[in-house]
Amino acid sequence: MAVIPIIIPTPERPAAAIARRAAEWAKLSRTPWRELRRMQDALVRRLVAERVHPFSAHYQRVMREARVDPRSIKGVDDLRRLPFTTKHDLLQAASDERTRRDFVLQPTPELVKRHWPLHKQLGLLSKAAKEELRREYTPNFVTFTTGRSSEPVAFAYTPHDIDALHKVGGRMLDVHAIDDPQARIVNLFPFAPHLAFWQASFAGLETGRFVLSTGGGKVMGTSGNIRLVDRIQPQALIGTPGFLYHLLRQAQEEGKRYSKVERVILGAEKVPPGLKRKIAEVLAEMGSERAVVSGTYGFTEARMAFSECPTGHEHSSGYHTYPDLCVFEVVDPESGEPVKDGEKGELVYTPLDGRGTTVLRYRTGDLAIGGVSTEPCPWCGRTVPRIHSDLRRVSDQRALNLTKIRGTLVDLSAMGSILSGIAEVVEWQVAIGKLHDDPMELDVFTVRVSLKPGADATQAKEKIRRELHDSLEVAPNAVEVHDGARMLELLGMETELKEKRFLDLRPKA
Ligand SMILES: [Zn+2]
Repeated sequence: MAVIPIIIPTPERPAAAIARRAAEWAKLSRTPWRELRRMQDALVRRLVAERVHPFSAHYQRVMREARVDPRSIKGVDDLRRLPFTTKHDLLQAASDERTRRDFVLQPTPELVKRHWPLHKQLGLLSKAAKEELRREYTPNFVTFTTGRSSEPVAFAYTPHDIDALHKVGGRMLDVHAIDDPQARIVNLFPFAPHLAFWQASFAGLETGRFVLSTGGGKVMGTSGNIRLVDRIQPQALIGTPGFLYHLLRQAQEEGKRYSKVERVILGAEKVPPGLKRKIAEVLAEMGSERAVVSGTYGFTEARMAFSECPTGHEHSSGYHTYPDLCVFEVVDPESGEPVKDGEKGELVYTPLDGRGTTVLRYRTGDLAIGGVSTEPCPWCGRTVPRIHSDLRRVSDQRALNLTKIRGTLVDLSAMGSILSGIAEVVEWQVAIGKLHDDPMELDVFTVRVSLKPGADATQAKEKIRRELHDSLEVAPNAVEVHDGARMLELLGMETELKEKRFLDLRPKA
């Protein structure tokens, strides 16, 4: 009787797994761009032919209607033959019980049989392989979009996607150069089913770094956060720009020393350049002269986030992407045609290795002023494509960030950048209302601020008025100065998930 040897595979040890994934990324992120693009072409082919077309009800319909043969998509350049996916498409699918899961990849035995090549089907003969496929594609985690203008849209992750979220977390810490394995990190993002919180938490789980998640201001108040940071004395702080700045200022007023902080990582919102400098100044006063403040870019639909590498505050490296996990196209927002390398355009996103909720050619609505660069990063030398850090909302009247004040179209995020950048301003809020609350009356535009101790209120008001007028061609009707405590109340810093920077109090006509 023949003896069948039984081989029990030894599971990879955690430390070895971390080291292997870090080494993979180190190699990938320094591979010449041409090679990376060839790899992306192969990944696009498999993505469309083997996963999205067979298993996504939405894209099967879209490709049928557009008469695109999935096998004709042979690389990144062919993606443009597919229609864009918009926020509207996602909302529409989510609004109906029958289409709610149309963006989720759902392989069934029939679909596999119909769409997969025979050799791939043969791989599924064993019970274990079938179970593996089921696990790979069955959602077990969800985050939601946070737009206030529309219903939240759910984005499902499967164990495969959760693994990618871990992997990306590790890569982010690497790009931010948080190299010390003993480094302690405090995650101040609000505890919520939102990408930012989980991306930061998983970064620690992936790398074995210590990450304490406080849940932000709403969970334990500013003072609770200050006390914890004081106790932990972390090397890195991660959170939203507004809450992090507020926390550091208050801690500094209380005489705390956060001298070990080397990195401040801002996320979930646009990072005004003036704010990076202000945060670094406060930290310098608290004993940390070397702190580098960096931004990240991420959005729910991407199910991952991208980091800037450390530079001085006057510079930005751009956001480093992961060429094996996603591809960004840059298109003219009007015509939808691709722009030249490094030119301004709207970012269009396609994940290359996703399961769960999967989009193809998703229009982010984010305009990258310097486009996407495929030149090696001048600061860290990585060769991965980098998204220019100056991001605006596409000039779309429907976009939440643009509003008309007294007939002038105003970019609210630009207004936020200006107010954050004024040295005397500590906190700010913008309120737009109507005279006498009458929908037919003129808009009344009020800026509310708290000021640095010792700042001259009259001069600061004049400066705010002038800077807004010079940049945006609209000046506030009033600038109100409030004390710090009142401003925090107005902003909902400790009561809201996200502080209220812009209030549109205009009654709907
Ligand atoms: Zn870099």
